[in-house]
Amino acid sequence: MKLIHLKGLSEKRLAALSSEGIRSAGDLLHFFPRRYLDRSNTMKMGHLMGSGEEVTVAGKIIDIEMAGYGNKKRLEIHIEDDTGTVKGVWFRGASYFRKAFKEGETVAFFGQAKRYGRSISMAHPEVDKISSEGDLSSFSRIVPIYPGSKEFSKARINSNMIQNWIREILRRKQIPEFLPDNLLSKHGFKERQEAYELIHFPDNHNDHKNALQRFKFEELFLFELSMEKIHHTVKERASGKIFSTLSGYTKKYFNEQLPFELTDGQKIALADIKKDVQSGSQMNRLIQGDVGAGKTVVSIGAMLMALDNGYQAALLAPTEILAEQHYRTLEDQLKGMNINVRLLVGSQKPALRQDILTALEGGLCNIVVGTHAIIQEDVRFHDLGLAVIDEQHRFGVQQRYDLLNKGDHPHMLVMSATPIPRSLAMTVYADLDVSVIRDMPAGRKAIRTAIRSHKKKEDVFNFVEQEIRDGGQAYVVYPLVEESEKMDLKDATAGFEKIRKRFPDFGVGLLHGRMKSEEKDAVMQQFINNEIQILVSTTVIEVGVDVPNASVMIIEHAERFGLSQLHQLRGRIGRGERQSYCILMPDVKVSKAGAFRLKTMEETNDGFRIAEADLKLRGPGDFLGTKQSGLPDFRVADIVEDQFILARAKEEARELLAEDPTLSSENHLALRKVFEPYFAKKAEFYGMG
Ligand code: ADP
Ligand code: MG
Repeated sequence: MKLIHLKGLSEKRLAALSSEGIRSAGDLLHFFPRRYLDRSNTMKMGHLMGSGEEVTVAGKIIDIEMAGYGNKKRLEIHIEDDTGTVKGVWFRGASYFRKAFKEGETVAFFGQAKRYGRSISMAHPEVDKISSEGDLSSFSRIVPIYPGSKEFSKARINSNMIQNWIREILRRKQIPEFLPDNLLSKHGFKERQEAYELIHFPDNHNDHKNALQRFKFEELFLFELSMEKIHHTVKERASGKIFSTLSGYTKKYFNEQLPFELTDGQKIALADIKKDVQSGSQMNRLIQGDVGAGKTVVSIGAMLMALDNGYQAALLAPTEILAEQHYRTLEDQLKGMNINVRLLVGSQKPALRQDILTALEGGLCNIVVGTHAIIQEDVRFHDLGLAVIDEQHRFGVQQRYDLLNKGDHPHMLVMSATPIPRSLAMTVYADLDVSVIRDMPAGRKAIRTAIRSHKKKEDVFNFVEQEIRDGGQAYVVYPLVEESEKMDLKDATAGFEKIRKRFPDFGVGLLHGRMKSEEKDAVMQQFINNEIQILVSTTVIEVGVDVPNASVMIIEHAERFGLSQLHQLRGRIGRGERQSYCILMPDVKVSKAGAFRLKTMEETNDGFRIAEADLKLRGPGDFLGTKQSGLPDFRVADIVEDQFILARAKEEARELLAEDPTLSSENHLALRKVFEPYFAKKAEFYGMG
């Protein structure tokens, strides 16, 4: 059924719907109310107290006018029912509201009713258009209010209209069910057709709530089904390389080269990896561990397993600074083992790059460490056995698979310090097995974090001075907010000059993203060698940088950073045996959310708690970057709120696939029809299309 056949759906309205992603009858059915106006809770205007109570009133617009003057200027919309009047007042957005509404229209106001003299007003109420006819006496007690938009207003689309179109669709179209019967009955879900009726035409609040559960489940179930299938496919397709011997490099590294004992978490992660690479199927493993947990060592172990079996290994990092650091670590820890390690980054001269590419293709180079430069098209390996991705949340799923495609089913290891809350991990890492490193290397002391205002700056500097005289080193970090890179650079540069004057006895260095990579490398090297005691930097040090002797971090404009970012930054200290201190220096003016972030940082070092808080603040899409993570933009479900349904959906998906992997049994045919196109898109995203 085409939308165009619906009554009153002009070209203009069609375009408006389309701008909200509604292009078919199915889309419109799936356009759910934003909220429901409960007429039984709608107050008669004449009965309002006006003491600030939150209420809904509904009535006809009798007047729209601008009132007051100067900064008291405001828009007033007066409405009335058969008992009295209420006025809505807008101090902002007046021109929009003035255009959006007309006298004679029926609307509902939702807000705080306040009495001024004899009249009741609501400041900035939520307004919903109910119907153009002002037909308030229609039969239903519960009125769905659909999300509005500017386009809708322009095309004069209101909730009533939308509901009428949906009524027509439901009358003329038979909605097929695709969830298997046993699932519906087991969870008490309504059939699709009925669920749509209950969502759009509920008799009571239970109706639409129940129906919504079904649609949330349906959405999450399809998603989990595809994730399960990808998980299986990834495992199965892999005639994985078998790393049968680990007695050469691997053994020597852990027995002779490594300067410390592995933590239990590192041992377990390595055991998981060993099991994977000897299983005969391709490894797809995520090592998750808080900043400083020691993931690098685990990845080196895994790379040596590949080398022991005649394969090459690649280590991909998101920034040049981190790639260079890994390169140095490898050079250092693999000294004397006759292993050819090369660094491949974007800023290298063509001749050098060519030399590296030749060595890689010829098999002369055993390990390549680098940035995105590694996944460029002209990079070819002799025989890539293991691909490692550090700080994987900085990369897209696509890039992960680009790297994999550099070899013939190489094993893959990805590492992340973003402690993803359980609910998200289930969803985002569906194609990965996960090892979590829960412990920290021995001897670490919890970082102490404090918030200090700029008035205390001299105290803070005195403290830094003392720490450095005592043998420590310090970072001073300035934010780098997108779009204002230049200004921030100025911030960091000005800060650098001031600090240099304040600490004439110490070496002070500056590091930022605009520097050439040799310059960056030189400064980092000086900091590592303690020739520089204070490193003034933008957030380029955020990921992975490891200088264990650094024990103080000052974060300027701290309130501008996101929580996870603050945690990452702070993770640069507390890596050695010194007690470390993080000093957050906010601006004078701090938003509520900013203050909450700072307080959370002060209260905890626990990456998981911080991630949970961050997820709540930002929502999942923003937290992970929807495109990057492969996390879908769910239409009805909310993976934070709906964790319970998500868990059930996953369980059911797993059971169903175990029982009928190809969905070919009679009662799965309808599901298969819906699932196949859905899965095709997902599979493409995961590089399996
Ligand atoms: P991350 O997990 O954040 O990537 P790194 O791998 O950079 O952490 O390790 C942080 C620091 O801890 C490094 O200096 C590393 O050498 C050190 N380290 C790692 N494992 C251990 C261990 N088992 N014992 C002592 N120090 C360790
Ligand atoms: Mg790291």
